[in-house]
Amino acid sequence: MPKNYDLPGLKSREIIETMDRYEPSCRPGAAPVVWAEAHGATITDVDGNEFIDWTSGVLAANIGHSHPHWVKAVQDQVAKVTMPYAYPTEPRAQAAKMLVEAMPDCARHLDTCFLLSTGSEATEAAMRVAKRVTGKHEVISFWGGFHGRTWGAMSMAGVQGTKHRWGPLMPGTLYAPYPYTYRCPFGTDSDQACVDKCLEWLDNLMRYESIGDLAAVIVEPYQGGAGFIIPPPGFLKRLQEWTHEQGALFIADEIQASFGRTGKMWCIEHDELAPDFLCIGKGIANGIPTAALMANHEIFDKLHKGEMSSTTGANPVSAAATMAVLEVFEQEDLLGNCNRVGGYMLEELRKLQDKHEVLGDVRGFGMVIGLEFVKSKATKEPAPDLTGEVTERMARKGVVCGKVGIHGNVIRVAPPLCITMEQAEESIKCLDEVLSEL
Ligand code: PLP
Repeated sequence: MPKNYDLPGLKSREIIETMDRYEPSCRPGAAPVVWAEAHGATITDVDGNEFIDWTSGVLAANIGHSHPHWVKAVQDQVAKVTMPYAYPTEPRAQAAKMLVEAMPDCARHLDTCFLLSTGSEATEAAMRVAKRVTGKHEVISFWGGFHGRTWGAMSMAGVQGTKHRWGPLMPGTLYAPYPYTYRCPFGTDSDQACVDKCLEWLDNLMRYESIGDLAAVIVEPYQGGAGFIIPPPGFLKRLQEWTHEQGALFIADEIQASFGRTGKMWCIEHDELAPDFLCIGKGIANGIPTAALMANHEIFDKLHKGEMSSTTGANPVSAAATMAVLEVFEQEDLLGNCNRVGGYMLEELRKLQDKHEVLGDVRGFGMVIGLEFVKSKATKEPAPDLTGEVTERMARKGVVCGKVGIHGNVIRVAPPLCITMEQAEESIKCLDEVLSEL
């Protein structure tokens, strides 16, 4: 039965008004869906409307919303103890051990971790520690990059929107182009040429802008906020090599790219990267605020105990949630489902690209699929207003999706990894209808 919700419903409207009155800086331009409950890949709003989730609550609920095993683990832990700050607890010790043991073969050297609450803290910590360990202070990040909203992390942002009028930024920040092949910053027409140009730029950056004090390079293995931009194979490996040639440390920011999101447990597995730091978050605890910085023990040995601690970091509830997530990955074939259903979705969405003039690019792997909307395929002129209209109409038809991108013209298809084939089919049908109506 096709849906045609009148959004926002009465109760939703009331809540949105209250939020806009009391926390006005909070609500970005998302469709007016006020979540009451979510299970698996289904959201129910406060008016009782049901939606298929293409957001995973922003790439966090990878194992599915309110997964029963995870719910039980969190509930049990809350009933026992939640807050001992720096005192050791069994969940904290076990979660750290399980994370280290879950590292892939290419990153076995990441044999210690530091647990935190948010992704921003993890990237911020990676930069701070890289500076301490190398005794240098410059950090290179990428055009389009997003690493969080604390000051250091924000300073690394490669889009003006993230840092607009929040300066002055962290000293020593340098920026380099990322191979966004659909819109190659150098205007090349081949993936390889785009990668080569981006890497060449790094040498120029060192020659002309750096003071010769490079501590680290931080990179997203695919750019999330910039619009699910996936670099061509080989770029990341060459970047890692280049970083090490400079005597700097390589930071992979997988805050949104791990825990199965890309079809492998860790995104670095695709290119067999061996980063000096791996930043993880979001899916780590399926929505309970948690993040981690993974590194070799020789790096963390250089810090004094407690130097990076925070009040809620690695609280027992976060730790219990993290363990539950890792257990669910062991018990269920989420990666298989991600590849099977994600592969199907990519294929079907590419058919829609052929059919609809405004769908300029469809790219992705696993359950990271970016739909880039343009005014016409020939000009590639970004169509942010139309993209907003698509997200609104999708919500009315029962699919919640988010709009991102450097130009605000990308819809991210990033459902929980447990989404069913039927839900995938239904949601793609909704998109086809919306694009036909427009
Ligand atoms: N790094 C990346 C790649 C992200 O996508 C995000 C959040 O979207 C962050 C860092 C910041 O994480 P948080 O919002 O948990 O601070």
